[in-house]
Amino acid sequence: MSLQIQSGVSLKPFNTFGVDVRARLFAEAHSDADVREALAYAAEHKVELLVIGGGSNLLLTRDIDALVLRMASRGVRITHEDCGMAVVEAEAGEPWHPFVQDMLAQGLSGLENLSLIPGTVGAAPMQNIGAYGVELKDVFHSLIALDRQTGELREFTLPECAFGYRDSIFKQQPGRWLILRVRFRLSFSATLHLDYGPVRQRLQEQGVTEPTPIHVSRAICAIRSEKLPDPVTLGNAGSFFKNPLVSAELAARIRESHPGLVAYPQADGQVKLAAGWLIEQAGWKGFREGDAGVHQLQALVLVNYGAASGRDLLNLAQRIQADIHERFGVSLEMEPNLY
Ligand code: FAD
Ligand code: NAP
Repeated sequence: MSLQIQSGVSLKPFNTFGVDVRARLFAEAHSDADVREALAYAAEHKVELLVIGGGSNLLLTRDIDALVLRMASRGVRITHEDCGMAVVEAEAGEPWHPFVQDMLAQGLSGLENLSLIPGTVGAAPMQNIGAYGVELKDVFHSLIALDRQTGELREFTLPECAFGYRDSIFKQQPGRWLILRVRFRLSFSATLHLDYGPVRQRLQEQGVTEPTPIHVSRAICAIRSEKLPDPVTLGNAGSFFKNPLVSAELAARIRESHPGLVAYPQADGQVKLAAGWLIEQAGWKGFREGDAGVHQLQALVLVNYGAASGRDLLNLAQRIQADIHERFGVSLEMEPNLY
C-alpha cells in the first residue's frame, strides 16, 4: 500500500480561494498505481472520488463528502523529435508554470503566452486554458486518460478532446476521465503571438526589438503580476466568469447605450464581450461584503479577503450574474468548477 489516505483534512491549502472546507478523505497520487489504488478504495468503500490539481479553478461551497485525490505525479520527457518540432510528455501533477519555464529553457516554444497560469498540467486540458491569444489546443498533441467507468486507459487526439472556449470533452463529462499525462507539440523555431492586449507594447517599453519566446514570457509575467492578485496573498480563482458570446444584435443594442463596450467579433458572427468590462460598468469593481469581494484592479476576479466561505463567494457571484442580466440582458457563466 503506497497511497496514504487521511481523514477530515482541511482543503484550505489546496484551493487558491483559500476556502476552509474539509474533505472526508484525502490522498495524493504520485503514480498511476496510486490512482488505481484510490479508485479501488473509493469503489470498495462506496465513496465518491474528486480529483484535483492545484485547486486554482475550484469553488468549494461545502465540506466534501468524498475521497479527494490530489494529483502529484511528476515527470517530463521528450518522446519524439522531428523537423524542428518536439513532442513533450508531462505527468498530470507537474505544476504548470515551472513546466512552461522548463520548456523555454530547453529552447522549446509554444507555451510562452500561457506563462504564470497557476495549476497543473493534468488540469490544463479540462478548460483548454487560454491567455493572450493562445489556447492549450494550439500546442496540444494528445493525452492519456483513465476511464473511471471501465478502468481502461484511453489516448485522446486533438479532435477527440472537443476543445472549445474554456471547454473540452473532459469538462462536459465531469468525473469520467482522469487525465494522467499530456503531450504537447512544441517548436525549436518560434512563431510568436504578440497581437493580443498589451504584449507588443510592453516589449517595446522594455526596449526589446527582436523578441524571443523567453522575452514574451517575461513580458506576460510582468503584465499579469501587475493586474492579477497573487493567490498566496489574496485568495482567488482567476477569472470568475467566462467572457460571454452574444449575438451581433445584442452587442449593437448594448453599444447604443454604452458606446465604450469592449467587444470582439468572432468568425461565426457572434461577438465576445469582455465580462470584466460589463461588471465594472455595473459598479461592482472593488465591491466588498464581509470577506468576499470583487478585485480592485480586475472586476472579473472575485477575491477572498480571508474568512469568506464558498457560499459567500457563490452568493456574490449570483448577485453579479442577476445584475448583469438585468442591465445588459447578458448571461454570465461561472468559470470555476463548483463543488
Ligand atoms: P483544479 O482547480 O485543481 O481543478 C480544476 C478542475 O479540473 C476540477 O474540476 C478538477 O476535478 C479537474 N481536474 C484537475 N486535475 C485533473 C486531472 N488530472 N484529471 C481529470 N480532472 C482533473 N485559466 C486560464 O484558462 N487562463 C488563465 O490565464 C488563467 N489565469 C489564472 C490566474 C489566476 C491568478 C488563477 C488563480 C487562476 C487562473 N486560471 C486561468 C484558472 C486555473 O489556473 C486553470 O484553469 C488551471 O488549469 C487549473 O488547474 P488546477 O490544477 O489548479 O485545477
Ligand atoms: P484584458 O487584456 O484586459 O482583456 C479583457 C478581455 O478581452 C479578455 O478577457 C480577452 O478575452 C478579451 N480580449 C483582449 N484582447 C483581445 C483580442 N485581441 N482579441 C480577442 N479578445 C481579446 O484581459 P486580462 O483579464 O488582463 O487577461 C489577459 C489574458 O489572460 C486573457 O486572455 C485572459 O483570458 C487570460 N486570463 C484568464 C484568467 C482565467 O482565470 N481564465 C485569469 C487571468 C487572465 P479572452 O479571455 O477570451 O482572452
